[in-house]
Amino acid sequence: MVDLQSQYQRIKSDIDRGIMSVIESAQFIKGPQVTAFQEHLEQYTGAKHVIPVGNGTDALQIALMALGLKPGDEVITPTFTFIATAEVVALLGLTPVVVDVDWDTMNISVDAIKKAITPKTKAIVPVHLFGQCADMEQILQIAKEHNLYVVEDGCQAIGSVYTFSDGTRKQACTMGEIGCTSFFPSKNLGCYGDGGALFTDDDALAARIRAIANHGMVVRYHHDEVGVNSRLDSIQAAVLDAKLPHLNEYITARQQAAARYDAAFGSRQDMLIPGRNPQSTHVFHQYTLRVVGQDRDALKQKLAEKDIPAMIYYPVPLHMQKAYQDPRYKQGDFPVAEKLAACVLSLPMHTELTDEQLDYIISGIG
Ligand SMILES: *Cc1c(COP(=O)(O)O)cnc(C)c1O
Repeated sequence: MVDLQSQYQRIKSDIDRGIMSVIESAQFIKGPQVTAFQEHLEQYTGAKHVIPVGNGTDALQIALMALGLKPGDEVITPTFTFIATAEVVALLGLTPVVVDVDWDTMNISVDAIKKAITPKTKAIVPVHLFGQCADMEQILQIAKEHNLYVVEDGCQAIGSVYTFSDGTRKQACTMGEIGCTSFFPSKNLGCYGDGGALFTDDDALAARIRAIANHGMVVRYHHDEVGVNSRLDSIQAAVLDAKLPHLNEYITARQQAAARYDAAFGSRQDMLIPGRNPQSTHVFHQYTLRVVGQDRDALKQKLAEKDIPAMIYYPVPLHMQKAYQDPRYKQGDFPVAEKLAACVLSLPMHTELTDEQLDYIISGIG
């Protein structure tokens, strides 16, 4: 599904130099590499503040803590996503309110958000699933009307650009009060371990996020609130700082692979290519087909026999997960998400796919 080894070989000297500089300085935590990467990521995304943390899940949790959400507050998330989005809501004692997604883009449905708002709703957490931004213009509008926070789960979408109808262009993670991303190795900007970051333009929120990520501490050993310990280590920052200058090339490589898949499958009736949101670029963290006219699992098996990996992201929507059973929800409540869970199939997608590999995958699908 990914080829991190070949990607490393192409920038090996930069990565090795970065890692060695950390080891030689022995500043494994809070080294200058962390600050350098933070500044470079601020420049790249246009966010006023980037706060690096330990992983994307922590970023989401810290975001909800920094907004001061309290047990019982309702947080709206899509039911078709990676579990982390709802997990942090549940861990904080907030109430996850899951809603359905759009069939074409697989992103959170704006109409469903509108219907789910109650007097207890405090925040919306849209997920930019598979690398394409959710309908942010409409979501921000709804949030404004109802006085809600928007926390973007941009773990799959770093570098994706959203264009508002007035022509303003903003990157994923820089549109809501807070944006969150992950540097898990297979993400579009991945480190060699765990990593994540929060993004915000609000100075006070940035200070609060930094404090919460550091044990709720502003003055050393004085703890103003209950926090967590979550940081990006210097070695991971060095790796990311070496990779960030290549992120745009990496995105282009993914888009070119996606264009090959589109050309191969775009006119088929038995599998549908990913629907596009005209307001967002797609950075293809995943290239996800909807297999509608043949047996998805049989196709996956056929590919496996030809050594072509394919994955199901995600086989079970949140409201059908055992840990998230809730009397408010039952099977059939979110028909689009349930249908997607039964038909999605993600193909190999990374920065190193060769024409030969793409030909082999495409012909393997038959
Ligand atoms: C990867 C991912 C996360 C969690 O990131 P980690 O760094 O693995 O904690 C959260 N949400 C989505 C949508 C993701 O893809």
